[in-house]
Amino acid sequence: MSVTGVVVSSGIAFGQALHLNLHQQKIDYRLIPQSDIADEKKALEKAFNQQKLYLNQCLKQLEQESEHFELIEADLMILEDEDLVEEIADTISKLQISAAVAIERIFSHQASELAQLEDPYLANRAQDVLSLASRLIARLNGAQHLDLSQLKEDTIIFAHDLTPAEFAMLPRRHITGLVLETGGMTSHTAILARSAGIPALLSCQYDTAEIANGTEIVLDGMQGQVFIAPLTEVRNQLSELKRLDEQRKQQLLTLKDLPVQTLDGHQISLLANVGSLNEISHLADVGADGIGLFRTEFMLMNTQTLPDEKTQYHFYCDSLHLMAGKVFTIRTLDVGADKEIPCLPTIIEDNPALGLRGIRYSLANPELFKTQVKAILRAANHGPIRLMFPMINQIEELDVLFDYIEECKISLLDEEKGFGELSYGIVVETPAAVLNLESMLTRLDFISIGTNDLTQYTMAADRTNPALTGQYPSLSPAVLTLVNATITLAKKYNVSVSLCGELASDPKVAPLLVGMGIDELSVNPCALLEVKSALRNIQYQTCLAIAKHGLKLTRIEELNLYIYGQDK
Ligand code: PEP
Ligand code: MG
Repeated sequence: MSVTGVVVSSGIAFGQALHLNLHQQKIDYRLIPQSDIADEKKALEKAFNQQKLYLNQCLKQLEQESEHFELIEADLMILEDEDLVEEIADTISKLQISAAVAIERIFSHQASELAQLEDPYLANRAQDVLSLASRLIARLNGAQHLDLSQLKEDTIIFAHDLTPAEFAMLPRRHITGLVLETGGMTSHTAILARSAGIPALLSCQYDTAEIANGTEIVLDGMQGQVFIAPLTEVRNQLSELKRLDEQRKQQLLTLKDLPVQTLDGHQISLLANVGSLNEISHLADVGADGIGLFRTEFMLMNTQTLPDEKTQYHFYCDSLHLMAGKVFTIRTLDVGADKEIPCLPTIIEDNPALGLRGIRYSLANPELFKTQVKAILRAANHGPIRLMFPMINQIEELDVLFDYIEECKISLLDEEKGFGELSYGIVVETPAAVLNLESMLTRLDFISIGTNDLTQYTMAADRTNPALTGQYPSLSPAVLTLVNATITLAKKYNVSVSLCGELASDPKVAPLLVGMGIDELSVNPCALLEVKSALRNIQYQTCLAIAKHGLKLTRIEELNLYIYGQDK
């Protein structure tokens, strides 16, 4: 038996199925009969015990200094509070409500009390309390949590959904593949899976009942198929494909130290998109010319406490040291939409992708922004840094940001801390940014086109919704027209222009972008050598011709056919 899905991270993976039902939170709010009260109390005790057991096992697996350690200990303290268990049990009997409703009620009350506290550390705990409640409710509903101690075999995770933060918490060592029911090509979970080199299929429709935990699975992340208990023949075929894929990756490694230039010598700068120090430390393996996008919010995804200025300063200095003078582009925090950050208060909005995200979040929380900028200015004393801002729409936003940066410099002078100068840029990722670009370019040293969001906002199509992303891809006439307009304006003002959306990571699309005049491509590290190979095997004249023709095409289908031929 097999099911199909959309490949968001390619490769072939073998492993045992494991369902992660993190979101089974259905709650029945009806009153329960008197006769069920004892059972509900037993279920409550069982859920608490299971969660304690699970967390204790997690503790055993984790190094003492891991960022998760504290978080787990704090959860355990709550679970071991006997008064709390008693209070929930009493609420079940007094109000005749189920254990799930009682947990929700009491934990929400605790969370709202914490959220009102002055101390930001304690206030941030409110979110942890709510997540613990949802984990307990999921347990009451029979959901299995990933038991780290049981992950001894290669495992392919099956889940309805996985947030980037949940992905960051997965123990990577034994996870060979990911199969999700939701998610789009440019969703952040997809981006993380790609950069971790874990083959992943999203938008898969499967029947959980037909795939028991432990079933042998082969994930074909080339064709987009998941084979459940495959026949030996299929297994052998895919193992051969995996061998060839690995061989190809080995061959690509020979390009690592060669320059990125077309056959006729046109040079392009090929940079990497990263989200952690670990990824930065591996960039030399693929020979990146530098970092074109450092998603700083990713480093906050699995930590409970917000790093202070000093911690961030050390972090950026370590990164600079690893980069050894190569381009290092930091993007200020891009919080919101599908990037929920556990250590920042969650904002409930009807339309998060259109809400307080990106630079809007920073403008609403200037202290957060200034702490980061001060750390970056101090680090710039030790090496060149380019700083860019996400989701900029208009010049007024830049006015405020540059004022904040001046304030940061003044306070660093007062504090007698040294700092260096930065180059400044924006991520062009909304149609408004393209339309307003001319007014902003004189203030900028570089720009980077974020086609993931530019596509989402141009097409009004949620980038995490698989039903839409297939229909409204980045490789489309509308998005290319905006990209082209951006490049033309940047050239007019002599501002260097990069492209850091996932579109740049596609080796078939890279020649088109180069032909359109892009100076730099910033790609997912796992795609870097493929993109390099594509560019080293083409004439610049051909890139120009591809761009000229590609920009004339008015249908997505025509563009697809033109760029991919029959093989997509
Ligand atoms: C983009 O939107 O294209 C981009 C590079 O930023 P992110 O994917 O982090 O939103
Ligand atoms: Mg973006």
